Amino acid sequence: MKLATGTTVITNGTLVDGTGRPPVRDAAVVLTDGKIAYAGPSAGAPPVPTQTERIDARGGTIMPGLVEAHFHPTYFNVAALEDLDIKYPVEYVTLLAAANAKLALECGYTAARSGGSLFNIDVWLKKAIEADICPGPRLASSGREICGVGGLMDWNPDFRKIGMDGLVLLVNGPGEARAAVRKLVKDGVEWVKTYPTGDAAAPDTNDHHTLCMTAEEMNAVVATAHNHGLKVTGHCRATEGIKNALRAGYDAIEHGTFMDDESLELLLKRNVPCVPALYFEYASIERGPEFRMPQKVIDGHKETLEGGAESARKILKAGGKLGMGGDYGFAWNPHGDYARELTFFVRYVGFSPMEVIQCATNNGADILGRGHEIGTLEAGKLADVLIVDGDVLADISILENRTRFIAVIQGGIVKAGRHA
Ligand SMILES: [Zn+2]
Repeated sequence: MKLATGTTVITNGTLVDGTGRPPVRDAAVVLTDGKIAYAGPSAGAPPVPTQTERIDARGGTIMPGLVEAHFHPTYFNVAALEDLDIKYPVEYVTLLAAANAKLALECGYTAARSGGSLFNIDVWLKKAIEADICPGPRLASSGREICGVGGLMDWNPDFRKIGMDGLVLLVNGPGEARAAVRKLVKDGVEWVKTYPTGDAAAPDTNDHHTLCMTAEEMNAVVATAHNHGLKVTGHCRATEGIKNALRAGYDAIEHGTFMDDESLELLLKRNVPCVPALYFEYASIERGPEFRMPQKVIDGHKETLEGGAESARKILKAGGKLGMGGDYGFAWNPHGDYARELTFFVRYVGFSPMEVIQCATNNGADILGRGHEIGTLEAGKLADVLIVDGDVLADISILENRTRFIAVIQGGIVKAGRHA
């Protein structure tokens, strides 16, 4: 991705740098050749060349670009399971993914980690974004997901003879788990996304207390992935599934819904990040009836929402690492609504706006494996900056409203917002 050339200075705003340090009123942020040269009080800012571009933050907030830590670029208006795999051909889904990536950037998300993709679209989307062919967040890709045969992601009946081609690699036993990871190695993914457990969405055979992979399969996934330098994550709701994942050596946990003391201890021991993705649960409960969602599915979401919120509070209190992101792309939880996750964590889960911003910037960058490059506004990092017209610490929901963005900046280049 190209970097800007020259100098830009952002003034007249409050700096919230993503580290969790107190906000700095009347701040200045200086960007030189696409990187941050200075971020701090305007009184201490270094002199800038005469040929400097100036951006007025209008008394608002200067913060790092947001990181969506569980992004599904290929989901689009999903209202039924079939919409996830066989609704559209790969050609059309690729275009949808490019449109979703552009939208995410316009929503202030300058980086994202894919939480699973149809075919190998996110790997190529990432390449296209890096080559400046299409705009989007700096992406970490995961390609097809891995699930046990008969598990949550294996819903097409055998008589149709279509398997789950495109969305999931189905495995029976550690041998097939190794083979699936080896295929992903060739596909070029960075993360291997697995399904250790079921979900409220499938109450009959794969609910949120059901295991969808064996510990042996998960151990084989991790050993093979780590051997090739890939990281492993998984959809983990049931307590036993969380423990299997942590014992197997997973590098992240998605959802982490029913976390008991032992699983929390395992999580903290290696500082494994967790991405709860809770607004999806809330939206499913609130808007499910509109989409004829069965009552037992809605009841399951109520249970996973409460469990997930409690686990997130426990992890925060214990000093663990949480990322913000969440399964956007469903009809009741569409792309573009990403920042609702942040508001939800403040208003419903009880986090402070500063804690949520740290999770959505610094922690997100760490989860991507790019914490040394992005995620905070500190000298030397890439200039991925969000300038917001308003005080996000006073009202975090401002981040849901793109018209409040003065500039969304990637590598020092203004990509979206009023200033674009
Ligand atoms: Zn997901």
